[in-house]
Amino acid sequence: MKGQRKSIPSKQLVRSTWAERLLVWHKFDSQHELEEADYCWACGFANGGTERCHILAVAEGGDNSPENIHLLCHLCHIDSEMLSGDAYWRWFHGGGAFGRFSNIARMIEASIARMIEASEEVRSEAVSGS
Ligand SMILES: [Zn+2]
Repeated sequence: MKGQRKSIPSKQLVRSTWAERLLVWHKFDSQHELEEADYCWACGFANGGTERCHILAVAEGGDNSPENIHLLCHLCHIDSEMLSGDAYWRWFHGGGAFGRFSNIARMIEASIARMIEASEEVRSEAVSGS
């Protein structure tokens, strides 16, 4: 029966449902690593433990089957809330919130480097008097 409400599965069941794929995706190096601590599946950090998150939101027709649940840290849970479908999977494989922030950090670093380069050119032109 559709619309039947099932309660959200245990973390253990969610882990065992996804374990094989998480290893293939190199999210974890071993079954032991997957189980030894409550690491976020997206960013890989412990960040105070994971939350059970719907991959497809309930509002969009997602259900409580373990196939529709990922274990994410609080930061990644918030960061992924507006993502669905391909956008979610790109975010997930790109390292979640941490991956996105480090991309932003890299962009800022690159633009600072360009500014420093530009100001050094101006300075050397001033020194040489050209
Ligand atoms: Zn995370």
